Amino acid sequence: MGAGLNLSPNALMALRVLGVEDAVIARGSESDFLIIRSWKSGRIISRMRRGAFRQQFGAPNLTVHRADLLDVLRGALKTVVRRGELINIVAHFDSDSWTEESWTRECDVSELTTTYAGWHPDLLRLYSYSARWYKWALYDRDPVERWSKGRVTLLGDSAHAMLPYLGQGAAMAIEDACVLSAAIAHHANDLDKALLAYERVRVPRARAAVLGSRERARENHLASPWARLKRDVKFALRERFGRDKTVFQTAWLYGYDVGRELR
Ligand SMILES: Cc1cc2nc3c(=O)[nH]c(=O)nc-3n(C[C@H](O)[C@H](O)[C@H](O)COP(=O)(O)OP(=O)(O)OC[C@H]3O[C@@H](n4cnc5c(N)ncnc54)[C@H](O)[C@@H]3O)c2cc1C
Repeated sequence: MGAGLNLSPNALMALRVLGVEDAVIARGSESDFLIIRSWKSGRIISRMRRGAFRQQFGAPNLTVHRADLLDVLRGALKTVVRRGELINIVAHFDSDSWTEESWTRECDVSELTTTYAGWHPDLLRLYSYSARWYKWALYDRDPVERWSKGRVTLLGDSAHAMLPYLGQGAAMAIEDACVLSAAIAHHANDLDKALLAYERVRVPRARAAVLGSRERARENHLASPWARLKRDVKFALRERFGRDKTVFQTAWLYGYDVGRELR
């Protein structure tokens, strides 16, 4: 299940299309700042005011528990089924039936303390607050041009697995769902056309998110001290002189309103 999920304004705008934005906002939390710190000294490298997203894009930047988001979506599905607009939906949320995932393994805390020896004590202290520890592998895939074959198509990670450094995997999956359902509704009698229309809208955007996340991974983990210094100075200057303007530069990603795309 995982724990916290960051939902950027584009994810909230997609949830608006699905009619559940307010319910998710009610379950989420909006800290004052998004902060990036040095792994070793704890020094703040970058700090963004979270409210700036809401002001700029008309939707907040939130953190929700994954279980809460699923709960809201499951609740909405039941409502749709009750209203009789959709029949023959089977949503199976049975976590017991799927227990092994090769990219997530439970581990012993000693493995973590050995791997992260030398990291800032505030971070290391976090380990003592948990009774179980997991290690997760992080992978992405090169973007592909086609997601559909015949009557089968992909959405979410199966179509565009990306690294989590822009916090966009779930957001893209929700946007995919909005566009796919609209395309099928629009081309109700021609599934080939519907899937082509879906890919035309989604493939380029998902590609940009995959490659952008890869670039951010590189920037977050620079090996050379000089490159790190250059990056930190860039962030510091941006914070000092750019303030909330940094948020504007992310408009292509976080300010995207899938509802506008569908109108
Ligand atoms: C550390 C980390 C942090 C992240 N942070 C963010 C974030 O802040 N914001 C954000 O938007 N995204 C984030 N993501 C990405 C996000 O978690 C994924 O992109 C999102 O969960 C993808 O949703 P999905 O439905 O496509 O796939 P999944 O959530 O992986 O769902 C697929 C489901 O199918 C099940 N399954 C697989 N194979 C089978 C099978 N054969 N039979 C039955 N069931 C099967 C799996 O068990 C799983 O439950 C993060 C990811 C990681 C790893």
